[in-house]
Amino acid sequence: MSAIPATPAATDPSARAAIHYCVAPADLHAHLFAVTLSVAAPQAAQEFALPVWIPGSYLVREFSKNLQRLQAQQGDVPVPLTQLDKHRWRAACRSGAPLTLRYEVCAYDPSVRAAWLDAARGFFNGTSLCLRVVGQEAAAHTLEVQRAAAPPDWCLATALTAVQVDAAGFGLYRAADYDELVDSPVEMGNFWSGAFTACGVPHRFVVSGAAPSFDGERLLADTQKICAAAIRLWHGEAAPPHAHYLFMLHAMHDGYGGLEHRHSTALVCKRRELPRRSDPLAAPADQATKPGEDYTRLLGLISHEYFHTWNVKRLRPAEFARYDYDRENYTELLWFFEGFTSYYDDLLLRRAGLIDDAAYLKRLTQAIHQVTQAPGRHVQSVAQASFDAWVKYYRPDENTPNATVSYYTKGALVALCLDLTLRREGCSTLDAVLRALWQRCAGGPMREDDLRAVLAELGGRSFAPELDAWVHGTDELPLAELLAAHGVRMQAEAPQIAQRLGLRINENHSVQIKTVLRHGAAERAGMAAGDEWLGVEVAGQGWRLTRLDELPLLAGAARELTALVARDGRLLRLPLVLPEPGGAGAPADTFRLSVADGAALGRLLDAPPL
Ligand SMILES: [Zn+2]
Repeated sequence: MSAIPATPAATDPSARAAIHYCVAPADLHAHLFAVTLSVAAPQAAQEFALPVWIPGSYLVREFSKNLQRLQAQQGDVPVPLTQLDKHRWRAACRSGAPLTLRYEVCAYDPSVRAAWLDAARGFFNGTSLCLRVVGQEAAAHTLEVQRAAAPPDWCLATALTAVQVDAAGFGLYRAADYDELVDSPVEMGNFWSGAFTACGVPHRFVVSGAAPSFDGERLLADTQKICAAAIRLWHGEAAPPHAHYLFMLHAMHDGYGGLEHRHSTALVCKRRELPRRSDPLAAPADQATKPGEDYTRLLGLISHEYFHTWNVKRLRPAEFARYDYDRENYTELLWFFEGFTSYYDDLLLRRAGLIDDAAYLKRLTQAIHQVTQAPGRHVQSVAQASFDAWVKYYRPDENTPNATVSYYTKGALVALCLDLTLRREGCSTLDAVLRALWQRCAGGPMREDDLRAVLAELGGRSFAPELDAWVHGTDELPLAELLAAHGVRMQAEAPQIAQRLGLRINENHSVQIKTVLRHGAAERAGMAAGDEWLGVEVAGQGWRLTRLDELPLLAGAARELTALVARDGRLLRLPLVLPEPGGAGAPADTFRLSVADGAALGRLLDAPPL
């Protein structure tokens, strides 16, 4: 085994903390970061561990699978290491003498949850690169990022506190403790960078991977409006809890997602979702005012992750008061932290003037359909869905729509129903509830009882019946009734053919069945996920089926036909009874929202008075 070369010291050693990491983008083409961890005062037999998950993404990801060539030494003497399990090691070291660990991390995960390194860009979360010095988590940590193999035009961005850095941002940073270190991802590359101030708070926005048409000024202006709307919601005219904030966005051909941190967020989007400086294909008026659907999706993501600055990074489940990086951290409250955040991400776009009422209702309709078109809403409550995120939400399969409900979308509808109920009874609004909850919990850990207490105080009565039914039960939410009281009509609509049959499909030259929904016609016929639906027999004649919307054409008035499907190398003939249009028994419900009273809707969507 060859030794990993020691990284040269570039910063003043006296500025380093007792726990000091030196990270070097060592080999861009091999996607390798070289890490040196110096522990000034190790315990005898000091243990080290790499997190198995990253807060905000509730799945055990076992980042240690990318860690390799781990070595330890005290002075010039090698120190034996014993691996204790998949992510923990013990060094046979003496106490009192500095201990150095060296290792490599392969970084080739394009998501926001791990690490990436290639010739174009570097990115990492501390949960992927920084071994935890067990027992010394509360001590100050320093992180030095060296330029190493990085091209000369690369810059560095992170929300960590700079101690000694060059003009490009490489150098030494400080974190108060291990939690802050791993809550502060680092972006490196030849990225676009801009800045703005919202309610007195400086914000920086860096974008990598953008196409030449990217309109950075537009992105800054629109993001500033979102940030201002969020700060005003939580604090009115008072100062927010963060003194600075960093957006790190990577645009790629295909990808979407974000991860929230206390002073920053890492985002990925499709390149086409970025705003464009000039688009000869768009009508000039549209370009100047309304964001297109692609860009609106990006703004929604920005709004969502920024809202988490309050809702989950500070106000957070009591179970997350201190993260346990070694195992799943269970909470029943993700319907509040992800669901309420999802309710406000769209609402703040409307309050910021970035989308109009019609666009808001369109996005609300999509959220309603995600809930009403999944039979799993009758099986699992959102509190259960929160607890089970680790094995269900983050591991979707063909049965997911039948067995689970999304704590994002149903949680957002619970927030909507609470807001509408508070407003209808004339006592309060959900905005006021959030502000009171922030005060009650001092912007820190909370329990569901805290929310119940604030609702009772501001709403003038107990909201236990609503929370028991909506959060801990599986009954339908009273959306139609509550929306009607605020100027929005919700009407049932004829579903698409796939929904009528109880199917989710892919269509690519043939009909491939992804999911068979509970209690639908397809389930009664014996169709199964993975089947390829090849054709139908109607009144003795056989027909090829290449798209599902051909079915009404082929079936005509017939209600009973035979479906020809391929499964596991066999051809099957399945008796299919088509449901009556609009008849009972379809597992998926479709609705249309329309404005009955624009003034009432406007009062709902505008920011309520403080
Ligand atoms: Zn979220």
